[in-house]
Amino acid sequence: MHQSSSVLSATGTRWLDRPAGPPMTQRLTIGLTGGIGSGKTEVTHILRELGAVVIDADGIAHLSYRPGTPAYEAIVRLFGRDILDGSGVIDRGRLGTIVFSDPGSGRREKLEAIVWPATREWIEGRLAKEEGRGTRAVVIEVSKLFEAGWDQFVDVVWAVEVPPGDAGNSEIARRVQARSGFDEARTRERVAAQMTREERIERADLVIENAATLDFLREQVKTAWQTTRARSE
Ligand code: ATP
Repeated sequence: MHQSSSVLSATGTRWLDRPAGPPMTQRLTIGLTGGIGSGKTEVTHILRELGAVVIDADGIAHLSYRPGTPAYEAIVRLFGRDILDGSGVIDRGRLGTIVFSDPGSGRREKLEAIVWPATREWIEGRLAKEEGRGTRAVVIEVSKLFEAGWDQFVDVVWAVEVPPGDAGNSEIARRVQARSGFDEARTRERVAAQMTREERIERADLVIENAATLDFLREQVKTAWQTTRARSE
């Protein structure tokens, strides 16, 4: 951000002290990241209610699993036709088992090397459209923002995190299981494929600790949205 950063305390939402970034143009791009099941999607629901334009990068990445895109062809070439369901769409469950069950195989990295550039190209097209429409601030939700190196092309990074410790871990496992049906082992595989919470916090500009109710999260997000926009003006 172009103004010098200072730490601002607000309802469980903290700004971290960062050196000033490049000058802002008329558009503000916020990268929203965080651990698995930490509440990123809930934050986007709140942001949309507040009028924000939100791009769901993980959802866009999943478009690569439908026939007809270059990314689809590359994934099928790499993993074979056994990953397809009856209608020719890539079955995310099967693909997930292949790439997460053997972390040393390099399969996940090869998949990401196909999907991330394709997703980024799509997002850049969308950002250009938003710019054309005069949209002043855009939020991009992306679970592996730092891993993909996309912190380079956003102005501000928000991390949504659940506090550490056993209580936090079991709360995440419970939420992820309720939402995706993943058991603890599958959740652990996916957590292991991500940066740690501490690494994300170290690199984020603003941290939203999602440790209480959804109503409280709403207050945190409102504060984060208002202060981020105010700082960019
Ligand atoms: P993923 O990384 O897997 O996409 P996510 O970070 O997007 O997950 P959400 O889907 O927003 O996480 O949240 C996971 C689950 O936890 C959802 O069912 C959500 O409604 C619930 N949840 C999130 N925050 C809270 C909260 N503060 N109180 C209660 N439930 C919550």
